[in-house]
Amino acid sequence: MTEKFAADVLICGAGAAGLALAIDLARRGISFRLIEKMAHPFHGSRGKGIQPRTQEIFEDLGILDRIVAAGGAYPPERKYDHHGSYTDAEVMEHADTTSAEPYQLPLMLPQFLTEAVMRERLLELGHRPEFGCELVGFEQDSGGVTARLAGNGGEEALRVRWLVGADGGRSFVRHALGIDFPGKTLGVRAVVADVVLTGLTRDVWHRFSDGDMARQISLCPLAGTEMFQIQGPIPLDGDIDLSAEGLAAMVAARANRDDIHIQSVSWSSAYTMNARLADRYRIGRVFLVGDAAHIHPPTGGQGLNTSVQDAYNLGWKLAAVANGAPDTLLDSYEEERRPVAAAMLGLATKLLDAQKQGEMRRGREVHQLDIGYPGSSLALEQPRRIGRPSAGDRAPDAPIRGAAGQSTRLFDLLKGTHWTLVGYEVGRGSMPSPRPNMRVHIVGPHGDMIDDGSHLRDTYALSAGDWMLVRPDGYIGAILPTGKLEILEGYLAQVGLGADDYPA
Ligand SMILES: Cc1cc2nc3c(=O)[nH]c(=O)nc-3n(C[C@H](O)[C@H](O)[C@H](O)COP(=O)(O)OP(=O)(O)OC[C@H]3O[C@@H](n4cnc5c(N)ncnc54)[C@H](O)[C@@H]3O)c2cc1C
Repeated sequence: MTEKFAADVLICGAGAAGLALAIDLARRGISFRLIEKMAHPFHGSRGKGIQPRTQEIFEDLGILDRIVAAGGAYPPERKYDHHGSYTDAEVMEHADTTSAEPYQLPLMLPQFLTEAVMRERLLELGHRPEFGCELVGFEQDSGGVTARLAGNGGEEALRVRWLVGADGGRSFVRHALGIDFPGKTLGVRAVVADVVLTGLTRDVWHRFSDGDMARQISLCPLAGTEMFQIQGPIPLDGDIDLSAEGLAAMVAARANRDDIHIQSVSWSSAYTMNARLADRYRIGRVFLVGDAAHIHPPTGGQGLNTSVQDAYNLGWKLAAVANGAPDTLLDSYEEERRPVAAAMLGLATKLLDAQKQGEMRRGREVHQLDIGYPGSSLALEQPRRIGRPSAGDRAPDAPIRGAAGQSTRLFDLLKGTHWTLVGYEVGRGSMPSPRPNMRVHIVGPHGDMIDDGSHLRDTYALSAGDWMLVRPDGYIGAILPTGKLEILEGYLAQVGLGADDYPA
């Protein structure tokens, strides 16, 4: 007999990772509960940079325009010398958008506003986080996970198919699973605080005593708010006065000015920087996403972004397996995402070292557009494509036209929860049989899409007769010529789209 579950998925933690997963599952119609032990949403600015790749994901999740409207661009940095004179420079290297990469610059938005937009989207989809509800224990067996939740109404047992620990750097779920979290403490402790102040303009990111680890301090106007975010290194030991007076004294001493007045502090934290990566992302029916799986210094604004992208990778796989795909599909989550976090830990640590020397400029390396899964078991390509977009790479955007004449973008065709199969100048007779959750587009003279600017052909280096399969998370799953199409059937079966699953 099939077991009845209270929900398919229990998501523990309603930070950025838990919310992203909840939105993705909600739009796929997968049942879940999203629990959060805090009584209210977290109110600190923390991760304030939304990278271009996350912007693409937010477009797919239906929140990008709201995120842009709520936030703003990073201002230039203003570096002051000891005498008060200064030089201004861009923090972000300028790059023009292209038809393949519509977003090129990180956006700034304090994390509490990003999460507010995500909660709003989740509510539109009919769900909300359960605040004041804590995961206090769980056991798993071959059939599911039994979780114990504690809330205002007492304790509750909940039976689910999967548990996802999106519960932050100190993850209860990771500890309960006994998963090691090796790495290092980076020998840097810092203060971060959101404050209302007078005495500084809001058009630049003010940086004092740059390159001097004992004295440097920066004050960044937080887009979408009236606040500034203060950041600065502090001694490894000892109490730090995080009151308005304490922070004002720190700013005055480090900036060598007495005209900056802190009026109120809305959130502050003194934290030690670590770079750590969980040994495993999955044990049986339990997964880790976000900071629960990796923590690192805030340099380069990678943490929140990597967390959202973990969830975006796992969401469609959980949905597929809930709908009958083989369980092995879920192994590809750790296979794909753990190496990404390992590389990101190295990058954030390298940028921290550069920042210690006073170097802040950021370029393409932080945009996350080059992240991909080319070595993944879900990357199928025959013959091997050298120097061209390959299976596993992020699927670039391209302007295209519908057969009825309307302009559109490849991203519009990809938007949603489905797989997308594109046949480039192929014969209709070769088209794989239709099936739910996979949309097929034929591009060419008799197709439903016309590549009249040749953008699709040039961006993807496609030839007549090529087929390209794009995953629900916007990565290329497979590229094959018509002559090799029979191999695609095996791939589709592996991800729950086998022709036999949907008999005609
Ligand atoms: C001081 C600081 C500054 C940072 N600055 C930056 C930055 O500049 N740029 C950047 O990209 N990133 C930054 N980060 C990192 C970024 O904030 C995180 O990467 C991001 O919040 C990770 O999201 P998450 O959802 O994985 O975890 P979190 O945001 O930590 O959310 C986890 C949630 O799980 C809840 N929870 C925990 N245990 C339980 C339980 N047992 N039951 C129910 N709920 C539970 C917690 O209350 C929490 O709300 C910073 C982090 C910190 C701490």
